[in-house]
Order: sequence, then structure tokens, then C-alpha cells
Amino acid sequence: MADEAKKITVDPEKCIGCGLCASTCPDVFAMGDDGKSYVKSSEACANCNCQASIDDCPAHAISWVE
Ligand code: SF4
Repeated sequence: MADEAKKITVDPEKCIGCGLCASTCPDVFAMGDDGKSYVKSSEACANCNCQASIDDCPAHAISWVE
């Protein structure tokens, strides 16, 4: 399977709402009304650097879905 089949997820229990992922990958992540990040388009991971979002998340709340 190609990389674009990868799916990414945010654990809302861990997210501290810093907004970094929505800044790094704005096509993928957005900030919800609850102040936490959510995945608006996992498919967009093929077009940006979501691994950086995973690596940089201070709360380790982002991961690939296996
Ligand atoms: S980088 Fe991590 S802690 Fe910050 S908003 Fe995104 S998921 Fe939440």
C-alpha cells in the first residue's frame, strides 16, 4: 500500500491544545471548539509532513493508525 493510505489520529485525552499540529499541517489538523486538535482530513497526510507533527507534539498525542 502507498503512503497515502496511512491514517493519523489525535488522542484528545493527551492533547493539550497547543495548536502546533494545526500550524504544521493545516490541511490535516484543526482546532475544535473544545480547544483540542482533531483530524479533519487524514488523506491530506500525503501532502504534508505529518511525521513532523507527530515528532513535535509536546503531549505525544498524535500517532499513525496501524
Ligand atoms: S501538537 Fe499535540 S498537543 Fe498540540 S494541539 Fe496538536 S495534538 Fe494537541
